Amino acid sequence: MKKVAIVGSGISALACAVALKEEGVDFTVIEKDRAAGGKLLTEKVDGFVVEAGPDSFLPEKPWTLDLIRKVGLEDQLLATNEERKGTYIYSQGRLHRLPEGVMLMVPTMFMPLARSRLISLPGKIRMGMEAFIPGKANGSDESLAGFVTRRLGRECLEKIAEPLVAGIHTSDPQDMSVQAVFPRFLEMERKSGSLIRAMVKAMKKGTPATQSRKLTYFMSLKEGMQQLVDRCVAFVGEERVRTSCEVTEVRPAPVGYELLAGSERMVFDAVVLATPAYVTQGVLGRMAPALADRLSPIAWSSTATISLAFAAPHVQAHLPGFGFIVPRVEARRINAASWSSIKWSFRAPPGSLLIRSFVGGGQNGELVSRDDKDLVRIVREELREIAGITGEPLFTRVHRWTGSMPRYTVGHLDRVGAVDDALEPYPGLALTGCSYRGIGIGDCVRSGFEAARKIGAFLQGRGNP
Ligand SMILES: Cc1cc2nc3c(=O)[nH]c(=O)nc-3n(C[C@H](O)[C@H](O)[C@H](O)COP(=O)(O)OP(=O)(O)OC[C@H]3O[C@@H](n4cnc5c(N)ncnc54)[C@H](O)[C@@H]3O)c2cc1C
Repeated sequence: MKKVAIVGSGISALACAVALKEEGVDFTVIEKDRAAGGKLLTEKVDGFVVEAGPDSFLPEKPWTLDLIRKVGLEDQLLATNEERKGTYIYSQGRLHRLPEGVMLMVPTMFMPLARSRLISLPGKIRMGMEAFIPGKANGSDESLAGFVTRRLGRECLEKIAEPLVAGIHTSDPQDMSVQAVFPRFLEMERKSGSLIRAMVKAMKKGTPATQSRKLTYFMSLKEGMQQLVDRCVAFVGEERVRTSCEVTEVRPAPVGYELLAGSERMVFDAVVLATPAYVTQGVLGRMAPALADRLSPIAWSSTATISLAFAAPHVQAHLPGFGFIVPRVEARRINAASWSSIKWSFRAPPGSLLIRSFVGGGQNGELVSRDDKDLVRIVREELREIAGITGEPLFTRVHRWTGSMPRYTVGHLDRVGAVDDALEPYPGLALTGCSYRGIGIGDCVRSGFEAARKIGAFLQGRGNP
């Protein structure tokens, strides 16, 4: 029976593995770390569920739900606690609620925006004018900063779009690609001539994903996102997941490819590289230099999550919404904080509170390399000043993700297209993961499924679909 190697065991790799298992294909997942899962990592500490990486996925992108269904985890789906819902933005010394009806950065309701003190009157007028600004003639890529300033004005960029969009992507709005991150916005502009008009129309229709089931905008799993990893591993069979094995090179073999890991050599008929692009570049450098070269322009940023657990009586503050985000123009040291145990059930024992803060990314990247004590001190100072949170944490956890978030800069999709072209001469070789067409879990799962389809077709002698 022909055999496939899947290198890496992040969610892209596991989605690929689940799909191959369904097709009856023989494969081995090869992971350099001691455990599978990549960035999906959940720590359980004294009844608290601490997410080191992602804490949720967007059901709007249906592939994660597909994967959850395939591995039988539907009964573990966890919605956000909608009664406490609300995003707050720190601006000029206080927290402002993101006006109701602002979808990502597009206002769809007049009154809440008019009443909000987050945006100045000229800023609000400028945002409203979006409905009358003609669309760009050519659909070429541009930066998030350029796009938002052109359509909604600078204040919307600085106070809403940058922290909500670039912040989450740990990117700089000045060079972040709208085409790669929000193709939908460009399509709205092209089809409707206005984001506001297109968004209002879409809202009237409702999103099919969230209408039909009890789904909230963000979803998680009761035991944390690692539950998905554990279930995928159980589904494909633990014996197919080999950990503590770092692949250093992929070479051509008389049939298929040879993988080098330390002194070991393994031959496979097909290979899926589900590793970050800079690792993929390294392992392919000798066999496929032109392909490796095309992977090198993808830039990466570093981020850290700092979780603080409190016995709630020690927290002398009423915490608004699910947490807050901080625009970079405020020049603070944290980017955001999320009240994890308010946003979700099952995250802390009754009467306690779990808070998760983020540093680094597109701004203050150097903070990520500070030691744990320093990072916790910085976060506590910021939380005290911004949200009035005092008190001694029961425990703290710091998780660093160094060079681990790809930054999709202007022209990213063209560069990924060039990577696809350079991959053509290598039948049975597929690349998947967050480096290419989406960093969110949904897009990673989709890319894992696509890699499985490509490899399945190759093994059946049908070439690339
Ligand atoms: C702090 C943080 C918060 C996030 N929050 C969210 C969120 O809430 N929602 C969301 O949708 N997305 C979120 N993301 C993004 C999302 O988690 C990632 O983009 C996604 O999980 C990446 O999956 P992947 O499979 O592409 O890569 P990874 O998870 O990075 O997996 C790659 C794997 O390859 C392995 N590997 C590397 N080199 C080798 C080698 N030579 N040999 C063998 N194995 C190797 C690595 O050890 C790793 O396990 C967040 C990311 C971070 C860092």
